[in-house]
Amino acid sequence: MQYTDKSGTVTCDTKFADQIRRAGGEDIDRCYQCLTCTLGCPMAKYMDYPPSEIIRLVQLGLKDRVLGCSTIWICASCEACVTRCPNEVNIPHLMDILHQTTLREGITPREPNVAAFHNAFLGPVKRFGRQYEALMSAEHFVRSRDFSMKTLKVAAALGMGMITRGKLKLMPPKSGKGKAEVQRLFNATLSRRGDRPEGK
Ligand code: SF4
Ligand code: SF4
Repeated sequence: MQYTDKSGTVTCDTKFADQIRRAGGEDIDRCYQCLTCTLGCPMAKYMDYPPSEIIRLVQLGLKDRVLGCSTIWICASCEACVTRCPNEVNIPHLMDILHQTTLREGITPREPNVAAFHNAFLGPVKRFGRQYEALMSAEHFVRSRDFSMKTLKVAAALGMGMITRGKLKLMPPKSGKGKAEVQRLFNATLSRRGDRPEGK
């Protein structure tokens, strides 16, 4: 279905809201657009659509706008919105679902650097059962493809500062008993989404 508004002709995907509900975003139906989340969101001024509008766009099936926007990558998952929402709509969780939907559908993220960080963050957690910051930084550096001298200098200065203060370990963490549990959680999530669990 298509309709035209002041920004042009937009396509309405009538199955999109259901797709997001099934992925775990069923609480979007509780939203009555009071705007409390948007008024308290520390990142709203940097977003192209405030959080309350993202919910409305999902309800209306405006998939292209939602999956092509900056907001879903700019959200800092601070949970200020869900804490204040009178209907306990879990917006950070919705943003996570929208990240995954964007990546699974092969849509280029509007904020590629944030998407690169997202993947770089999850990789070591999946592998070691906890974060390994040195590997995460290296992965993010490669994935973001920003090899400019300026970035290299900033990264080197930050890295050295953290190493000398003992905040960045060069050796990988020992795999503790939590590793199997974390792996189980990753695989359970993949199975729930219909993806193949790792190692199978
Ligand atoms: S605070 Fe909750 S009910 Fe109000 S607009 Fe935001 S998500 Fe909707
Ligand atoms: S979780 Fe995201 S949308 Fe909610 S207040 Fe924080 S930055 Fe804003």
